Amino acid sequence: AFEPAPGVFENMAERLSGRPKLALHPYALGGADATVEMSLDGPGSSGKSSVGAAAAREVGYRFCDTGLLYRAVTWLAEARGVSVDDPEGLVGLVDDVQLASDADGRLAGVLVDGVDHTADVRAPAVDSAVSAVSAVPEVRSALLQRQRDLARSGGIVMAGRDIGTVVLPDADLKVYLDASVTERARRRADERRSDASGDGVSGMVRRARCRRWHAGRRRQLDRRGARRRRGAGPGRKQLDRVGPVGGGA
Ligand code: C5P
Repeated sequence: AFEPAPGVFENMAERLSGRPKLALHPYALGGADATVEMSLDGPGSSGKSSVGAAAAREVGYRFCDTGLLYRAVTWLAEARGVSVDDPEGLVGLVDDVQLASDADGRLAGVLVDGVDHTADVRAPAVDSAVSAVSAVPEVRSALLQRQRDLARSGGIVMAGRDIGTVVLPDADLKVYLDASVTERARRRADERRSDASGDGVSGMVRRARCRRWHAGRRRQLDRRGARRRRGAGPGRKQLDRVGPVGGGA
């Protein structure tokens, strides 16, 4: 089992509060050629994408923000008129979604039928609908396989819910990031403002609470299936992040 080098996580919150510069070195992760998976779990806008992308850049790994897959299926369902009550229809959309890599190896783009829909999957309508689509067990298992396929060759930092517990339970390094509801709402509002489509912090807090409700419902469903443990799973590192880290979701 992987053990990070001593001191790697020391003062992480302070170090992240300025420019994101992670003390994650290829050596600390097991050597530049190692087949390494790193999972990053935490709630929306806890900084998984910015931290994950920075860590991946630092160590020369690919980065995958798995939320994009759920968002893409949600957007496509809306675009093709597939209802959230139609699990088969939703699963049928999964193969039409591709993640596109940028020059840094970040799987940050969404393609459907070869057309770039990266901006569409961040629309407020997707924010509102994605929790319900994500709660459909058939969608989760289709995307589970998809995420494992993406991670199969290793050398990847994978961010998103359930990554350390369900998707990559044997990841070499697991990190759980957290931030308060207010801080996360503030970040979302900032992101929206820079997209010129914002509806302010109060709307974000409302939606964060709604998402929390859906997440709670999903946890109930998952517990029934006896397969979900909270957070990043055994051996995780918990980080609470305060203040801006810049760039990404
Ligand atoms: O991280 P992001 O906000 O883009 O994720 C969008 C939604 O997709 C989450 O609110 C969650 O409902 C779902 N999701 C998930 N499991 C993941 C990633 C995202 O259920 N691994």
